[in-house]
Amino acid sequence: EELYRITGWGEPYFSINAAGHVTVSPEGDRGGSLDLFDLVNALKQRNLGLPLLIRFSDILEDRIERLNAAFAKAIARYNYPGVYRGVFPVKCNQQRHLVEALVRFGKPHQFGLEAGSKPELMIALATLKTPGALLICNGYKDREYIEMAILAQQLGQIPIIVLEQVEEVPLVIEAGRKLGIRPILGVRAKLSSKGVGRWGTSAGDRAKFGLTVPEILSTVEQLSAANMLDSLQLLHYHIGSQISSIAVVKTAIQEASQIYVELAKLGANMKYLDVGGGLGVDYDGSKTNFYASKNYNVQNYANDVIAEVKEACDERKLPVPTLVSESGRAIASHQSVLVFDVLSTSEVPSGVPDPVQETEHLIIRNLYETYESITVENYQEAYHDATQFKEEAISLFNFGYVSLPERARAERLYWLCCEKILVIARQQEYVPDDLEDLEKIMASIYYINLSVFQSAPDSWAIDQLFPIMPIHRLDEEPTKRATLADLTCDSDGKIDQFIDLKDVKPVLELHPLRKNEGKGQKAEATPHSHEPYYLAMFLGGAYQEIMGNLHNLFGDTNAVHIHLTPKGYEIEHVVKGDTMTEVLGYVQYDSEDLIESIRQQTELALQEKRITLQESQLLLQNYERSLSRYTYLSA
Ligand code: PLP
Repeated sequence: EELYRITGWGEPYFSINAAGHVTVSPEGDRGGSLDLFDLVNALKQRNLGLPLLIRFSDILEDRIERLNAAFAKAIARYNYPGVYRGVFPVKCNQQRHLVEALVRFGKPHQFGLEAGSKPELMIALATLKTPGALLICNGYKDREYIEMAILAQQLGQIPIIVLEQVEEVPLVIEAGRKLGIRPILGVRAKLSSKGVGRWGTSAGDRAKFGLTVPEILSTVEQLSAANMLDSLQLLHYHIGSQISSIAVVKTAIQEASQIYVELAKLGANMKYLDVGGGLGVDYDGSKTNFYASKNYNVQNYANDVIAEVKEACDERKLPVPTLVSESGRAIASHQSVLVFDVLSTSEVPSGVPDPVQETEHLIIRNLYETYESITVENYQEAYHDATQFKEEAISLFNFGYVSLPERARAERLYWLCCEKILVIARQQEYVPDDLEDLEKIMASIYYINLSVFQSAPDSWAIDQLFPIMPIHRLDEEPTKRATLADLTCDSDGKIDQFIDLKDVKPVLELHPLRKNEGKGQKAEATPHSHEPYYLAMFLGGAYQEIMGNLHNLFGDTNAVHIHLTPKGYEIEHVVKGDTMTEVLGYVQYDSEDLIESIRQQTELALQEKRITLQESQLLLQNYERSLSRYTYLSA
C-alpha cells in the first residue's frame, strides 16, 4: 500500500484486499465493493479485451453527493441565506452515457451543465431537463449560439449567457430585441488574482478569456443604454484548473465578491456568483506536490467560498447570490479506471559473471577486476571506472582491436557492475548526484498494451502524474523496477514518472512476469508465454478521453459502465472501442478499397506463381478479419 500510496490518492474508493487485488468501493465506506481483478477477468470472458476503460457510475454519483454535501454543510455553518447550484463542465468528459448519468444523479441537487463551445451547447440543451438547474453558456459565441441559448428559456430551461468577449455584447442585445425575449446574462471577469500551476495563465489581465474591469463597466453601460441591465445577473470567473493552494482560492473569491457587490450597486440584477472550476484532485496523496496535489479538501473549499461571499454581501447589506461552481476534474476524475496488460519486458543483464581467464583481453580483465572490487566504500568510484572501461571497450571495438564476442562480454560485465553498485546505492541514505540516473538506466522496460497518446495524453504532453499500479499480486513483493513503454513507435510513448513519497520517482515497482504453466493464477490462460499481468491507471476520468489522439492509429479503447447492485454488479453499457475499419476511415481509407487492392495483388502474384492459392487466401482472410478488429494487440 505504501509503495503505491493507494491510501493517499485512492481513499475512499480504491484499496487492496486480502487476496492482494485492488478493490473498488464505489460508494466509499458506505457501500459494497468489487474485486477489480475478478471484474476484469469476467469482462474479458465477455469478449471485452484490454485495454479496457471501466467507468463506475456509483463513483460519479458519490462525487456529486460529496460536492453538494460540502456546500450544504458550509451554507449551514455560516448561516448563508442562499443556495448552491453546481454545474458540470461538459468539456471535462462529453461521453453521452456519462453526461446522462450525471444529469440523473444531479437531479436532487438541481445540478446543471456548463457548455464551453457550440457543440457542447448542443449536448447541454438536449440533455439537461432538470427543473431549476442552470445551463451556463461559456466559450466563443456567434448569433446562432446566442439565439439557441435565449430560445431555450421558452423550454423552461435556465440558460445563462456568459459574456466573455466585448464583441458578444451587441450580439446579445440585438438577439434579445429580435426575439422579444430578455436574455439572462453573465460576465466573465479577468481577475487580477492569478491561478497557480500548469493552468495558472487562465487568469490575469492578458488571459485568453473574460472581460477586464473597464470592459465590464462598458458592458454595464451598453446594457443600461439598451434598457437591459436587469438581464445581467451573474458574475463568473475561472482562474485555472487544479488549483493546488487554498490561499489562491481565497484571494480570487475575495476579489470576485467585491466585483459582484459593485455590479449590484451599479444597478445590475445580480443573483448568481459562478466561481468556475479549479477544485483540485489529489493525484499523489502528497498534499504538497505543486502540480499533482493540493493542500485543502472539498469542505475547506466550500467553506472558504461561502464565508467570503457572505462577508462581502453582509458588509454592503446586499442579498447573497446563488453560488455556482463548475468543478469538472473533481467530479469526473475518480470514476474511471483504465486497465491494460503487459505484453513483454526487456531487462538489462543480471547475475554473476563467468570467472575471467588470463588470456582474455586486458579491457575485460579490468572490468572483471572492477566488478570484484565493488564495496560500500568505493561504489561511486567503481561506477566511473566501469563506465570508462566500457567506453574504452567500444572504442577498441571500433578500431578492430576487440572482437564482437569480446565486446558482448565487456558490455555484460559493465551491466553486472552497475547491478552490484545499484544494490549498494539503494541502501544508502544519500545517493550521490552522478549515480541518480542509475536507477533509470537499470530499470526494466515493461511493454504495455496501450497508447499513451490515446489514453493518457496529459502524461505525455504536460508530464501529469496519474497513479499507476498492478491490480493483482499485491500480496507478493514487486522485485522489479520498471518504466513503461507503450505500443506506439514514438520514443515519447512512455511513462517514466511515478508518484512517490517525495515528489516523483523514475521507476515503478512491478512483479516479474510469470511463465504461463497453466496453473496457479486465476487469470485466464493466454497464448503468450507468460501469465496475464494487469496494470491500471487511476484518476484519468477528466479530459484524457477527449484529448487522446490517434497517433499510430490506436483508437478509442473499449469502455464499460459498471453499477453496483446488492448481488454484485450490472454492466449498464458497453461502448466498443474503435475497429481498424473505423480508424482507417478517419483518414479516408475505405475498407472495401483496401481489400480490393490486396485481392488484385494476390491475383497478379498467383498468375506469376509467386504465391500459392492457399497462401493468398490466408493473407486475404487475415486482412479482412483484422479490419473488424480492435486496434490494440489481443492477448
Ligand atoms: N469552467 C471553465 C470556464 C473552464 O475553462 C474549466 C476548465 O479548465 C472548468 C470550468 C473546469 O475546471 P476544473 O476541471 O478544474 O474543475
